[in-house]
Amino acid sequence: MKLVSTRDSAITAGVTEAIVYGLSKGGGLFAPLTLPKFTLEDIISLADKSYSEIVSFIAAPFLPDFTYTELSYFASLAYKNFPDAAAPVVSLNDKTHILELFHGPTFAFKDFALQLLPYLLTTSLKKLSINKTAVILAATSGDTGSATLEGFANVTGTKICVFYPHGGVSAIQKLQMTTQTGENTKVIGIQGNFDDAQTGVKKIFGEILANNKLEEAGYILSSANSINWGRIVPQIAYYFSAYSSLVSSGKLKAGCPMNVVVPTGNFGNILAAYYAKKSGLPIGKLICASNANNVLTDFVHTGAYDRNRDFYATISPSMDILVSSNLERFLFELYNHDSGAVTDLMASLSETGYYKVSDAAQQTMSELLYAGYATDTDTKAAIKEVWQKYNHLSDPHTAVAIKVYNDYLKVTNDNTPAIIVSTACPFKFADAALKALGSPATGDDFENLSKLSEISALKVAASLTALRGKKEHHKTLCDPSEMKAQVFNWLGL
Ligand SMILES: *Cc1c(COP(=O)(O)O)cnc(C)c1O
Repeated sequence: MKLVSTRDSAITAGVTEAIVYGLSKGGGLFAPLTLPKFTLEDIISLADKSYSEIVSFIAAPFLPDFTYTELSYFASLAYKNFPDAAAPVVSLNDKTHILELFHGPTFAFKDFALQLLPYLLTTSLKKLSINKTAVILAATSGDTGSATLEGFANVTGTKICVFYPHGGVSAIQKLQMTTQTGENTKVIGIQGNFDDAQTGVKKIFGEILANNKLEEAGYILSSANSINWGRIVPQIAYYFSAYSSLVSSGKLKAGCPMNVVVPTGNFGNILAAYYAKKSGLPIGKLICASNANNVLTDFVHTGAYDRNRDFYATISPSMDILVSSNLERFLFELYNHDSGAVTDLMASLSETGYYKVSDAAQQTMSELLYAGYATDTDTKAAIKEVWQKYNHLSDPHTAVAIKVYNDYLKVTNDNTPAIIVSTACPFKFADAALKALGSPATGDDFENLSKLSEISALKVAASLTALRGKKEHHKTLCDPSEMKAQVFNWLGL
């Protein structure tokens, strides 16, 4: 599979290069021109496979630079850090199912890709005979940070620097990052929001690609954000796994469509669902759920993307994003791989914060997607309602998706079975979950954990309670304008 830059189809890359470099020259993302096709038979056969076997089977044609033996081996190592049922489907009723993606080591879906990415990246470097240390920069809205650190800590040949919005992540999310050990890790809070962190990282990429200082010092820059193709592919696999579980448990007839509801921020997870659909998985509507930062809802409704709006810090902080990077890959699809059109839209976005897609693109988009949003009040109400009705505790991100799905049902009466993607464990956001259940949260985050555990009769994972009393190794704070200087300083340049 050849990947091309969304901004210049003359720039092509193999999968290993795309994984190593993250972004293409000129700032585009690497995207596929053709996708593999899985048959219904292939999909049904997944029922007999373990989760890591499902990942190698689905990922193989998307990652042809790796042998099947390599992929199986990497997947077996990556997913041994998950329970056997890595991505269980829990049914609320006949038609509504929750795909729980938070049973990995850092309790958010980011682990699915970031437990595997270190193997893909270090092997890609070897395959390309690049004898350099990979410097991985990541901007995080909360969960990518801990998942990247967990995946890459002490991995030989890599160094990781994570930027998170200071004050913009939950207390547990912050501690997961700042208590991280590992010689090769660096965590920096920025005085700004996620968009500032992401823009800063992209800027460093641009500047560093334009000069050789880093390369001369023996480093090569890479990314663990979902702009990296190696992040998207492992996420495609769990949509197949969910479908196959529904079929084998008799909840879905093989070949019938399944709707997918995704709480969305950077558009990576829902993009993976779109690629799954294009690769033969019978997915009906893709339902894109946002919080009060509802730039995507407006975009899907009007075709106009406008980031010139207030930014809200919500109780679903991992979705507090106004510039969704992976939308660029989706635009590339909507415009039938016209990289010139995508370049113009992205130029307009960076100059004015605004662009509008063509009528044809808007038409295609509205056939594929439904979009809606939930305010914090809606989100809390959804947590409470699902708890009371089904005895199911959801985290605020998942609750956003649940609320938007309820809206979708009201508007459409579509009774296609749906999976709602549950992206994080409620204990990562104990404070918000407690408040939603009507129980006052205290100022002490660990007390909140045990209180939530008591109320819900769910056990808190030992690694979360163990955060109490762990040393915070990372205390650096900086202004977004100092990000590059911080990176150079850390690398001793
Ligand atoms: C990252 C994240 C999201 C948003 O996912 P995208 O792929 O960025 O759209 C949603 N929920 C949680 C808990 C997350 O960590």
